[in-house]
Amino acid sequence: MTLVDFYRDLHAHPELSMREHRTAARLAGELRAAGFDTTENIGGTGVAGVLRNGDGPTVMLRADMDALPLAEETGLPYASTVPGVMHACGHDLHVTGLAGAAGQLARVRDSWSGTLLAVGQPGEETAEGAVAMLADGLFERFPHPGVILGQHVGPAPAGTVGHRAGLLMSAALDVEIRIFGRGGHGSMPENCVDPVVTAAYLVTRLQTVVSREIGAGEAAVVTVGRMHAGTRANVIPDEAVLTLNLRTREQHVRDRVLEAVRRIAEAECAASGCPRKPEITTAGDFPALSNDTDTVRRVRSAHAAVFGPAAVLEYDPLMASEDFPRFGAGDIPYAYWFVGTTPQPVWDAAPGDRPADKLRGVPGNHTSRFAPDLSAVRTVVTALTTAAHAVLG
Ligand code: ZN
Ligand code: ZN
Repeated sequence: MTLVDFYRDLHAHPELSMREHRTAARLAGELRAAGFDTTENIGGTGVAGVLRNGDGPTVMLRADMDALPLAEETGLPYASTVPGVMHACGHDLHVTGLAGAAGQLARVRDSWSGTLLAVGQPGEETAEGAVAMLADGLFERFPHPGVILGQHVGPAPAGTVGHRAGLLMSAALDVEIRIFGRGGHGSMPENCVDPVVTAAYLVTRLQTVVSREIGAGEAAVVTVGRMHAGTRANVIPDEAVLTLNLRTREQHVRDRVLEAVRRIAEAECAASGCPRKPEITTAGDFPALSNDTDTVRRVRSAHAAVFGPAAVLEYDPLMASEDFPRFGAGDIPYAYWFVGTTPQPVWDAAPGDRPADKLRGVPGNHTSRFAPDLSAVRTVVTALTTAAHAVLG
């Protein structure tokens, strides 16, 4: 089976976060065939393959494996066969890139020395997988990496790779605020504490976090995406629940935003006379992704040599998020880059001249029409192989 067939097969059989059983088994099969000592079921469905090849650094190659709850509308002959589930973020390409790079690096093992740790990670979309693998002893049971490499596909001309030293992706966090009032008959608010009114004030006041507490040069977004209270017009409910999504580029800004949200929520509830403090819980916790400058430099120049300098793009920081940086949290340097997947005719036909304008006209990640060009299979394999080779020396 060719790598393109392997990719088509993964694409046709997407699996949701933390349930990537078939995908993990297929990846493990490829790693074993390449000679990697391979272990499954790490932190759920996680896979780790080790190839020891003499003295030298340990380099970890990471691919995420999960798909999204989305109905595919690409019309591709190898479209999803699972109703309502789609590889709409291209993680099937990441798994293919890892399988292909593992095979290639094993074949040319005379040309490098060190240890490879190939990691198939579950649950990226839900920010669960990296944490689960680390909690299950990834870095204790297997060689501790000195460098970590990862890649993500996205809308940009197929054949390009995008790099950035330092900050590349934002931190994200979901925050749920449960407001406790005192319910009663809608005709007698004087006997109640109305959580609907408190929630309304809170939503308004939260708009001042970014506008009044965060510097103009710092990026932050606070969105109240969900607001729920009550059942009918003449009943004052006991509770109201707000769910927020926070995006920031730097950890200290995120800490500040979260602290402001807590302070304002507690103060609004106190102002309304709520019988209890609000309950504030967080989920979907993604750290900011900040690439190691030296590792990026080595990988970028290796990519320029193999793809040509014109194919290597410089990216601006994005407000999107990844749980990949969890693996580097113990101060392990890492490089993470993007691989363009938009077929050239689709890119050329999109309106506008600037890449930022064209992006509005091409199907991106998390959309039902995200259809990577098949040439991207070779690009992700070559990008990861070349990067690993550059770091292994
Ligand atoms: Zn993704
Ligand atoms: Zn995604």
